[in-house]
Amino acid sequence: MDNVIQISYFVSAVLFILGLKRMSSPVTARGGIVWAGAGMLVATLITFFYPGMENYLLMTVAIAIGGGLAFWSGKRVAMTDMPQMIALYNGMGGGAAGAIAAVELLRGDFPSMTFMTLAVAGALIGSVSFSGSLVAFAKLQGWLRRPLRFPGQQFFNLGLLLAAICLGGWLVMQGNTPGGLILLFFALALAYGMMMALPIGGADMPVIISLFNALTGLAVAFEGFVLNNAAMIIAGTVVGSAGTLLTQLMAKAMNRSISSVLFSAFGSSEESVAGDVTGSMKPIDAADVGIMMAYAERVVIIPGYGMAVAQAQHKVHELAELLQKRGVNVKFAIHPVAGRMPGHMNVLLAEANVSYDLLYDLDEINPAFPQTDVALVIGANDVVNPLARTNPDSPIYGMPILNADQSKNVIVIKRGQGKGFSGVENALFYADNTRMLYGDGQAMVGELIQAIKEL
Ligand code: NDP
Repeated sequence: MDNVIQISYFVSAVLFILGLKRMSSPVTARGGIVWAGAGMLVATLITFFYPGMENYLLMTVAIAIGGGLAFWSGKRVAMTDMPQMIALYNGMGGGAAGAIAAVELLRGDFPSMTFMTLAVAGALIGSVSFSGSLVAFAKLQGWLRRPLRFPGQQFFNLGLLLAAICLGGWLVMQGNTPGGLILLFFALALAYGMMMALPIGGADMPVIISLFNALTGLAVAFEGFVLNNAAMIIAGTVVGSAGTLLTQLMAKAMNRSISSVLFSAFGSSEESVAGDVTGSMKPIDAADVGIMMAYAERVVIIPGYGMAVAQAQHKVHELAELLQKRGVNVKFAIHPVAGRMPGHMNVLLAEANVSYDLLYDLDEINPAFPQTDVALVIGANDVVNPLARTNPDSPIYGMPILNADQSKNVIVIKRGQGKGFSGVENALFYADNTRMLYGDGQAMVGELIQAIKEL
């Protein structure tokens, strides 16, 4: 039976890896999810046959409750709420690793010090990822609107982390320890995760979210060693390395080092930036924008989080096709942190069947803006904010942006005066070459289509 179990875990790990590979392209991504799900099913089922396994009833009830809740919420979740759901699920992974470690530490029956060290390390990392991801969830959900900062915060956080590490080390040295100290260790780790995520604001959230993703993978892999479970080790390592790569990618996209995200951003305030914006926002109506775009040579469409909120991707695709039929050169400019999750815009546009050839990333599209007749910004804000280039006090300072302001004309579709995720004013909206088309993204693109068709 042992061989069957090991082979099944190996098969499930292979399914995870192949699933992940398929997720790298929007064309095969749906299939990738199914493959990875099949891997999880194999791993879960075979675990029932693990030697010495007990509590079948509890396991079945837990799987039924967890699976039922996930199925129910997965079916109901709006596309716009996906980022927070992913943050929550990521936190659950870290929490599960932490829970495994808690059980093992309380049992205190480790074959060697190495195993206990791995259990403690996994507990620390998993707990940090759990509580940090819950804070990220609350921020993405809009429950925590402002970063929480106070004087001496870095030292306080460092103190928490050091205390958790020292206590963890002490637990390992002692071997069998009283439950109270183990609880204190978990409390410190959970508090550190929370305190680590609370001050992160501005536009730095993508970096910390992907970092928690990497940490969850690492924690699962460590606990996989403790349980001697190959599937957990392989899946955890895959998630950990993918998360690390994503963190690097996000940090590069933000032009930040990971340490600067974690340990800086103090003193920047929204008020200090608001003063830099002069002029007024100038409205325009859809009929005029329709004419402008229909007779343009080059149009660049810049989608942002508002396109996701409005679920305007299908209309945007229709608009792009309509313009192309009239001979307009249409490109989509994709900022790596646009939306609320990595690849958010790519996923939405792929869902609407926008050809991948039309999507250009930041480095590719920025040189094209000075020759662009119309830059159509749909629900994007922070990723086109020129203050990121010019105002060192801005929380998004240094983040490379899409240089929409360099286009001959900029049209911004948004509902009103709402700010972006970072909460700062956007100088682009006040620029001389910018006109505001106020309204819901889907409705406004619909009006543009109508206006162009009537020409
Ligand atoms: P922003 O969040 O900066 O701006 C979105 C804009 O969309 C708002 O100004 C809002 O204005 C507008 N909007 C909202 N709903 C609608 C609607 N129905 N129709 C039209 N417009 C609408 O979006 P960006 O994509 O530019 O930037 C993403 C931000 O999120 C960055 O700061 C990024 O760092 C952060 N972030 C990204 C993550 C990621 O992984 N990609 C994760 C976490 C945070 P109004 O209310 O006036 O309509």
